[in-house]
Amino acid sequence: MRVLGIESSCDETSVAIVEDGRKILSNVISTQIDTHKLYGGVVPEIASRKHVEAINLVIDQAFGEAGLSFQDIDLVGVTRGPGLIGALLVGLSAAKAFALASGKEIVGVNHMHGHVCANYLAHPDLEPPFISLVISGGHTYLLEVKDYLDFEVLGQTRDDAAGEAFDKVARALGIGYPGGPIVDQLAQKGKSRDIFPRVMLEKDSYDFSFSGLKTAVMNYLNQAKQRGEEIIVEDICASFQDAVLDVLVEKSLRLLKDKKMKTLVLSGGVAANSALRSRLQEAFQGTDYKLYYPPKILCTDNGAMIASAAYYTYQNHRGQSLYADPSLGILSTETSVQ
Ligand code: ATP
Ligand code: MG
Ligand code: FE
Repeated sequence: MRVLGIESSCDETSVAIVEDGRKILSNVISTQIDTHKLYGGVVPEIASRKHVEAINLVIDQAFGEAGLSFQDIDLVGVTRGPGLIGALLVGLSAAKAFALASGKEIVGVNHMHGHVCANYLAHPDLEPPFISLVISGGHTYLLEVKDYLDFEVLGQTRDDAAGEAFDKVARALGIGYPGGPIVDQLAQKGKSRDIFPRVMLEKDSYDFSFSGLKTAVMNYLNQAKQRGEEIIVEDICASFQDAVLDVLVEKSLRLLKDKKMKTLVLSGGVAANSALRSRLQEAFQGTDYKLYYPPKILCTDNGAMIASAAYYTYQNHRGQSLYADPSLGILSTETSVQ
């Protein structure tokens, strides 16, 4: 089954064609980062307008790169949430228009399911059950993925998301947007010191909290400035990143152990973090634990992950409704394939 996947929830307009949820035939990503970095973050109204400008071109390019025509598609999958309302509406409108004109079925897709499904594109052997650490710009979850569409949320953030913490700290340091990849690079040249808190919450909790860490970094920077101390940006990046990773790694490993599971799957933009990957790889070396993560281009938003999620959604007759829902929960499984 060939699925056309359309993603427009935030600042990437992306369209892909994927076969049977696993094989990418094309995956075109048009990013708006250069526009939004002028403002230090995504400006919703500008994002919507940019999606409108890009969407038809990106759809054409996705067909061109796959060498396919409209009739070769079996299903349309489109992100319906969570995300920015105006941005979501652009993708949904384009998908509905395509489905109507071509007579194809269409399913609404949960963007967070897409982030997990990015791993199926990269690893043909990967199948549920597994534990997934989902760490993106707006969400942070520890999930037990029991089946393709059967999730249990075991931990989540109580305030800021992991990616949001990277972005806000980068903004405070004035090093650019989005912050994650820049902090990742600079941290490699810095010396990590134990100057920021590791917020573990209650002893048995798998939940996260990153807003206190963000505030601690800001306080540290303000105090250093007042005292006239030199701020070594690389060292701050390394120290902050270690504080985030210590918590992510410890809670993920504890959950695997408690659930007696051996497979950890990283999903979402922060899964691109090189220190996180190498730390977990090191922890698993010589054990029978397995670590999976997508290539960096599939960690952040893309149409291929949405096409994959659409395939599994359709197979499970769990097609989601087709209205935009900015705060769609990860467990939402409203039905209606049209
Ligand atoms: P959501 O999926 O929650 O709606 P989003 O779609 O904006 O949010 P993603 O596209 O999954 O988020 O990921 C973007 C986030 O990933 C940003 O916060 C970015 O800083 C972070 N990120 C990207 N690369 C890295 C990296 N190498 N290290 C750490 N964070 C990273
Ligand atoms: Mg983005
Ligand atoms: Fe995302």
